[in-house]
Amino acid sequence: MLVLGIESSCDETGVAAVEAFGSATPTLLAHALHSQIEMHQAYGGVVPELASRDHIRRVLPLAEQVLEQSGRALADLDVVAYTRGPGLAGALLVGAGVACALGAALNKPVLGVHHLEGHLLSPFLSADPPRFPFVALLVSGGHTQLMRVDGVGRYDLLGETIDDAAGEAFDKSAKLMGLGYPGGPALSKLAQQGRGDAFKLPRPLLHSGNLDFSFAGLKTAVMTQARKLGDELEARKADLAASTEAAIVDVLVKKTLAALDDTALDRVVVAGGVGANRLLRQQLDAACRRRGVRVHYPELHLCTDNGAMIAMAAAMRLQSGQQEATSVYAFDVKPRWPLAQL
Ligand code: ATP
Ligand code: MG
Ligand code: FE
Repeated sequence: MLVLGIESSCDETGVAAVEAFGSATPTLLAHALHSQIEMHQAYGGVVPELASRDHIRRVLPLAEQVLEQSGRALADLDVVAYTRGPGLAGALLVGAGVACALGAALNKPVLGVHHLEGHLLSPFLSADPPRFPFVALLVSGGHTQLMRVDGVGRYDLLGETIDDAAGEAFDKSAKLMGLGYPGGPALSKLAQQGRGDAFKLPRPLLHSGNLDFSFAGLKTAVMTQARKLGDELEARKADLAASTEAAIVDVLVKKTLAALDDTALDRVVVAGGVGANRLLRQQLDAACRRRGVRVHYPELHLCTDNGAMIAMAAAMRLQSGQQEATSVYAFDVKPRWPLAQL
């Protein structure tokens, strides 16, 4: 089964081809990505209309590139998958429209995929994929969730952020420090030159007794600290970045450990853009090693949005019998779509 996956939920156009035989973990044949970050940088964030237009320009050339690299032709495809939501409505419509048009033209079925399920299953693209069941820490630009995952489509939400996502906390703090957009990676890089205990920043909901998160207060604390520093900010920026990163990572690690306690599971899967964070990986690995818990991550370049995770999620859903591809080419998108509704 050859699956083409198209991702266009936000500011990355991604296309990939994945092949699946029987019930074996599907393999990635090729993937191609175009990031719009440079285009949106001038505005300090994603401009939805510009995003949609750029997806239109990029998606077919990327698909051609992927097929060529895979050594396959359009006619070889069995299923065309696309991100159905959540995300920006206009951006999603581009991927959905192209996928359904391709399907109709080739007389091949299509499948709409949940973007977060894509992130969640992205560690299956690595050489040493996880086994079910596991605790999943999904940390992206728009979501922060802990889940119990018993199989494809079997997701129980254990806790989630009540306000900002972890990636948002990175990005907003970075913006306050003038580190550009998206600031997560830049903040993390600067943090390497600073001390994580230089400033006392809050760890919201750390002792809440549940698995929920809150990051909005942290951003306010960073802003207050930055104002207090005034002219000194420039000289202390690395310390403030390191302290911010330490606060976010501390909460993510401790809540993940609490989720392991609650579920009595011994495997963790980290997914989403913040899963690329160096400190998070270090601290989670160290804490889990002490407990004999295995941690799985997506490959670094597959933590943020990409087409490979969409093709993978589609292939795994089809394999598991959770869903069938359809030859009805009328499509809709779901800009808001809780994973629990799957
Ligand atoms: P969602 O998947 O929830 O719809 P999204 O697709 O925008 O949101 P992702 O692409 O998974 O999110 O991840 C992007 C986020 O990851 C951004 O907030 C970015 O700052 C953050 N990020 C990426 N790399 C790092 C890093 N090394 N350290 C911290 N944050 C990072
Ligand atoms: Mg992105
Ligand atoms: Fe994403």
